[in-house]
Amino acid sequence: MPGIDFSEPFDVVVAGGGNAALCAAITAARGGARVLVVEGAPAFYRGGNTRHTRNLRCAHDGTAPTMTGPYAQEEFLDDLMRVTAGQTDKELAALTIARSAELIGWMNEQGVRFQPPLGGTLSLGKTNAFFLGGGRGMLNSLYRQAEALGVAVLYDSPVTALTVENGFFMSATVTHEGRPQSVRGRALVAACGGFEANIDWLREYWGAAADNFLIRGTPYNRGDVLKMLHEAGVSEIGDPTQCHAVAIDARAPKFDGGIATRLDSVVFGIMVNKEAKRFYDEGEDTWPKRYAIWGRLVAQQPEQIAYSIIDSRSLRLFMPSIFPAVEAASIGELAVKLGLPPDALERTVREFNAAVKPGTFDHTILDDCRTEGLAIPKSHWARTISEPPFYGYPLRPGITFTYLGVKVNNEARMLMKDGTPSGNMYAAGEIMAGNVLGKGYLAGIGMTIGAVFGRIAGEKAAVHAHN
Ligand SMILES: Cc1cc2nc3c(=O)[nH]c(=O)nc-3n(C[C@H](O)[C@H](O)[C@H](O)COP(=O)(O)OP(=O)(O)OC[C@H]3O[C@@H](n4cnc5c(N)ncnc54)[C@H](O)[C@@H]3O)c2cc1C
Repeated sequence: MPGIDFSEPFDVVVAGGGNAALCAAITAARGGARVLVVEGAPAFYRGGNTRHTRNLRCAHDGTAPTMTGPYAQEEFLDDLMRVTAGQTDKELAALTIARSAELIGWMNEQGVRFQPPLGGTLSLGKTNAFFLGGGRGMLNSLYRQAEALGVAVLYDSPVTALTVENGFFMSATVTHEGRPQSVRGRALVAACGGFEANIDWLREYWGAAADNFLIRGTPYNRGDVLKMLHEAGVSEIGDPTQCHAVAIDARAPKFDGGIATRLDSVVFGIMVNKEAKRFYDEGEDTWPKRYAIWGRLVAQQPEQIAYSIIDSRSLRLFMPSIFPAVEAASIGELAVKLGLPPDALERTVREFNAAVKPGTFDHTILDDCRTEGLAIPKSHWARTISEPPFYGYPLRPGITFTYLGVKVNNEARMLMKDGTPSGNMYAAGEIMAGNVLGKGYLAGIGMTIGAVFGRIAGEKAAVHAHN
């Protein structure tokens, strides 16, 4: 580890290398702290799930040049309350939203640039600020800034052990080039994600179904530090079965498939399971409000697989898929190609088509095209599947991130199981997102939580180190 002096304790040790970690490191360095970032991934893969992101959600007054608006804090809070059904720490939710209003300005100061949203991005132009160059562009700016401020970064160096005494962080062991290195610090910021890439851990809650999950992001977020913190007496937050999960192309890689593997075809046709049976209202509400329920719905189906079936009228209405659709001249042929029972799929499509009522199709609004008489209705955008060629996509649950985490207070300080704040341990990002997200998700809030709590953690950790 050339150039890094381990003989003196660092003021702030930041575990992780994504948005939350970098926001903490930059803020701590600006507060005068000597900061070390330990990133478990090699340099090329630095930045965890943040690499895959496109935007963050922020309250604003409508003057941001790349956003339509305004998006008032009250409206943001209403949206959060709705998606979480009130399962949020209200103080931390209000704090997140209030401080979200500072993020565009702060990010700009760090060299991050924004752009207007492209089409097909879930209609988020009013509420979400899009990074120019995506999450990777944003991370590159943050890393450049951190390094300019003197932050030391150690890549390919996962934290493999923590020494915590009575809620007080003493040191971390990181493994670098196969050798353990002890890293002492006056404060710790844990910003190393959830446990979504740890299939064994997911299996504890989901059983064998977890083997069929695809992980949309980094393979490095295995929850090791999260587990160490719980074992060291830090209070847990969040339901371990809760996570953000969308339906993604079943042909996607096991890890790191990213945004391109999401399929937005669901509302335009029907979804069936491997028995060729429909299982949920595909037109219940607009796609931005419903896309995040489909991962969990597919997870509940036999063998955790489902198929989106559309006809030729719908193929160009959603973002192009990265893998081509399976195409066939008839429903029976499509079933054979997808490995579905042909009779069953033909019956499902026949019954669905017969139930479709006349209406005026408009996928930009909650239109009046619906079914009548089906046990599982389709409430909007119901058109017969009747114009060949027919198309199908196989889908699997794509896990974005888990919500089980560490409990924090409004200073981003971890809370111990007896309710007292830790002496010097802070957390930011996915690892504590469950404080704000009891369930549900609001597009872009993952980055908001990471940036807001990263900045708070960095500031408080630096102050602590100097006292
Ligand atoms: C495909 C995809 C698209 C997404 N799009 C968006 C979006 O547009 N907007 C949005 O708000 N959210 C989005 N999200 C969610 C978003 O990525 C997360 O909420 C956010 O990036 C979390 O930031 P973080 O810093 O907490 O975690 P991460 O960015 O995941 O960083 C965690 C870091 O910890 C490191 N690490 C893990 N274990 C260890 C260890 N033991 N020791 C040291 N380091 C370790 C990892 O290598 C990684 O660098 C998306 C997620 C995915 C997968």
